[in-house]
Amino acid sequence: MDKVTELYTAEEISRRVKAMASDIAVTVTDKELVVVALLNGSFIFAADLIRDLSIHNLNPQVDFITLASYGSSTKSSGKIQALKGLSIDVKNKYVLLVDDILESGRTLEFARKMVFEAGAADVSIAVLLEKPGKNTKPELKADFIGFKVPDLFVVGYGLDYANRHRELPYIGVLEHTE
Ligand code: 5GP
Ligand code: MG
Repeated sequence: MDKVTELYTAEEISRRVKAMASDIAVTVTDKELVVVALLNGSFIFAADLIRDLSIHNLNPQVDFITLASYGSSTKSSGKIQALKGLSIDVKNKYVLLVDDILESGRTLEFARKMVFEAGAADVSIAVLLEKPGKNTKPELKADFIGFKVPDLFVVGYGLDYANRHRELPYIGVLEHTE
């Protein structure tokens, strides 16, 4: 059985995501913005973030990509593969990549390269969570970070373990119990 211990409440997340939207709105004024969210983990974060962006009169185009890394489900592994690429033209546009969690940076590095290769004018990165000290790609930095989390496996608010726990309104630490 899985036990999930709450780390950030739904209210804390909501406040933080609103603050991130304010920060984003300061830097992307009057640019043609495309939000590209990385499925599946960021779907709830992205849904909240774009609605908070609308409060600041940002009306982005929204697209989704799906990347997968080979290996175990609780550790990120080396090789990234695009299962679903961009559906809209990002040429000369300003892209905000949205992901659930930045760990080694490999996933977002792959995504950023993909978006630049598609002709984006500039790319920024917003992540809900970052695990400090785990980034093996020092040149890959998130511009907007929700929370810096300890090096524990977290679920909820879109984040999964084996496609479960995404529905939890809070973010919690997953503990396995037999
Ligand atoms: P990176 O490529 O930066 O090493 O790995 C980032 C990806 O690994 C995230 O998008 C997420 O899918 C997964 N990941 C890393 N840590 C966690 C975690 O604590 N919980 C969950 N659910 N996924 C994680
Ligand atoms: Mg992910």
